[in-house]
Amino acid sequence: MFEKEREALVETLIQKGIKDREVLKAVLSVERHLFVPGAIASHAYKDTAMPIGYGQTISQPYTVAFMTQALNLKPGSKILEIGTGSGYQAAILVKMGMKVYTIERNDKIYATTLKLFENMGLRVAARCSEGTIGWDEFAPYDGIIVTAGGPTIPNNLKKQLAINGRMVIPVGDKSGQTLYILTKIAENDFQIEEEPNFAFVPLIGREGWKET
Ligand code: SAH
Repeated sequence: MFEKEREALVETLIQKGIKDREVLKAVLSVERHLFVPGAIASHAYKDTAMPIGYGQTISQPYTVAFMTQALNLKPGSKILEIGTGSGYQAAILVKMGMKVYTIERNDKIYATTLKLFENMGLRVAARCSEGTIGWDEFAPYDGIIVTAGGPTIPNNLKKQLAINGRMVIPVGDKSGQTLYILTKIAENDFQIEEEPNFAFVPLIGREGWKET
């Protein structure tokens, strides 16, 4: 279902500057309509964020593609995602051959998405907890992707990134963020690129925003 819509979405992403062929291939094959509430499934291939309940969203496909491309991944890389949400970003990474570890703080979203991963046969290590402290057990990670926006870059995530690994994380205030793309050169030494004008839901936690 929706093959034509997925092809059109890939065309849109190419026009907007996404070049990574592995990312585009994954967008072509992952059925985004299965990751949104049934009532809005027919809109799933528009290049927009969409509500998934509990005030949260599935990220815009362009944002998912841009962040994934920015990670500059080799197949088989170990990736930590903070903010599982719908599971779409994690599914894109699995399709690209990554080992994915993902953390969601909302227990209802976590339970729904875990079931979806099982039903779809997606191999993802998922955990329900506060993600700004990371997931030390499986560190270091070749890539870390944070899909909610916070005020700073959490220290534990910096520590849990492998040397030469990359982290993409939106940082700013609650209304808008700059996407930071960090490369870890050495322990405590990061090269940082910045891409302005992104809008994510808030990262809530110890090194994020307070819950309101
Ligand atoms: N990657 C998701 C985007 C989901 S929106 C997707 O592809 O659909 C961001 C998610 O981050 C929300 O589900 C929110 O509950 C979660 N979140 C916010 N702060 C968090 C934290 N500190 N740890 C883990 N998850 C968090």
